[in-house]
Amino acid sequence: AQQNLPYIQLVDELKQPVKNPKKGRSVVHWMRMCDLRLVDNRALSRASIEAKENNIPLVILFVVSPQDYIAHDRSARRIDFTLRNLEVLKTSLNEMNIPLYAITHSPRTSLPERVISFVQSVDATCLFANMEYEVDELRRDIKVCQLAKTNNIKTTFFHDKCIAEPGLCMTKDGRAYTVYSPYQRLWSTIVNGNLDTYMREAPPIAANSAEVMKDPTLSPLFEQPIPEFVGGFKLETNNKDVMTRVWPAGHDAAKEVVLSRFLRTKARASQLGEVDPLLEGAEESDRKSRLKEYGNARDRVDKDTTSRLSAYLAAGVISPRECVRATMELQKAGKVDTSRENGIGRWVQEIAWRDFYVSVLAYYPRVSMGRPFQEKMANVVWENNEEHLKAWQEGKTGVPIVDAAMRQLNSMGWMHNRMRMTVAMFLSKDLMLDWRLGERYFMQNLIDGDLASNNGGWQWSASTGVDPAPYFRLFNPYNQSTKGDPNGEYIRHFVPELKNVWGPDIHNPPAKLAEKLGYPLPIVKHHEVRERALRRYKNPGKE
Ligand code: FAD
Repeated sequence: AQQNLPYIQLVDELKQPVKNPKKGRSVVHWMRMCDLRLVDNRALSRASIEAKENNIPLVILFVVSPQDYIAHDRSARRIDFTLRNLEVLKTSLNEMNIPLYAITHSPRTSLPERVISFVQSVDATCLFANMEYEVDELRRDIKVCQLAKTNNIKTTFFHDKCIAEPGLCMTKDGRAYTVYSPYQRLWSTIVNGNLDTYMREAPPIAANSAEVMKDPTLSPLFEQPIPEFVGGFKLETNNKDVMTRVWPAGHDAAKEVVLSRFLRTKARASQLGEVDPLLEGAEESDRKSRLKEYGNARDRVDKDTTSRLSAYLAAGVISPRECVRATMELQKAGKVDTSRENGIGRWVQEIAWRDFYVSVLAYYPRVSMGRPFQEKMANVVWENNEEHLKAWQEGKTGVPIVDAAMRQLNSMGWMHNRMRMTVAMFLSKDLMLDWRLGERYFMQNLIDGDLASNNGGWQWSASTGVDPAPYFRLFNPYNQSTKGDPNGEYIRHFVPELKNVWGPDIHNPPAKLAEKLGYPLPIVKHHEVRERALRRYKNPGKE
């Protein structure tokens, strides 16, 4: 029953806050791993307004919770990215006299008590936060709300992660959609019918008065440093350097470097003195941009065809509203384009996918508890083969496109969507290894690891999820290779053993050539194992 869902329980809990708490001496915004920004941040913006109206300072709390990171299989990269972003935020906030106080807390079971006692320690009576939709986080927040109430603290939580929050796009009989297309159509109608609600930028936050520095309770908070790493999640120096270069922290990086590069026309790129290989051959007058090309080019993995915003969206360094507003400004159409006919509409549809998977997580939380959405698929018989798992993880399966993609993940913490689907199908269908092993490995290595999207992507690929790929859709990795990387540039880049192989051999090197180059032979033959997968998926529970 819906009322038992942690998401609905939290929403109900929030409907009964302490009504008129006595005036406090400060207002607390509790920043989480999914809203690491000052711009267009709903809860933070509202907390700032509350502080200004009452003429009291704003304080920001961040709780580093190592046990949660372990429970969620967080990658060291994602933790490091979080800390780097906090560092950037702290610098900006210091200039505004707003303390960002980052504490480390264990065990996670007592985290609600710790948060409430912090709120009390700064004499605050209002606590603001943006909602997190993972089950553990929802349960934690229910407890926070209850504790707050008994201590006369008013809690206000906002929907900020998605454009359309869970519960907004529902079927006529009040259930959450389990198929994307009708969900997306309704998403488009609701958002376009209420642009002022779903696209409006949250007002900017105001600085605290310099008096804060004289306050004996608040001024020490400025001294608290952001940790450089969290025990057990330390990135080795080499990898940290690569991550810092490839994924620079901060809202300016997300906006100026990543988003604007994706949106800008060839003419603008030329003005900036940049040569963008993707726009090569385009006339400066035809206003070609990466975004416009997205409709046709997005499945090419040898070119940089997608936005690469996922790390920033997952960590909330930029808001999805800001991204979609940027596409509206570009089109000057006054509405959100979700048509399939052009690059802009296709791209906005991907943002809607993100919302769709959050809705699934909130309304079908079993998907995040290791259960397949399609219950009958719980009985699919998996292989138990450590060697195959290791070969897949290390990018040594002998199937070049799979290996290139896995090595890309291992070296830069990111992979193109088509490759995510290809390697996920290879694991769960060619190797017949349990998809949860892959889901976990992704979370432990991705910089953009996000439970809802990762689980959704894995369950789709393994044909166990909502709106799944039919079980008989079994990507042939060699076809994916010739389509996504026709000239083999992507493979040659990530698989150095094959860097001198040209022509069709790059997709499936003959055994003799592979042996000579020290490249493994395929650990399974696709055309042979295909039948096994079809059989087992068709008859879950049977060999
Ligand atoms: P673009 O193509 O530029 O898309 C823009 C944004 O839309 C992305 O940044 C992302 O926020 C969202 N988006 C795009 N495709 C999807 C999708 N299929 N589902 C949900 N949101 C989407 N995405 C994550 O953010 N975190 C994950 O942990 C994650 N794991 C995945 C695992 C598997 C097995 C699969 C098949 C997909 C997964 N995705 C995940 C979705 C998708 O692959 C990535 O969001 C995308 O590749 C990121 O690259 P981009 O930012 O250049 O995307």
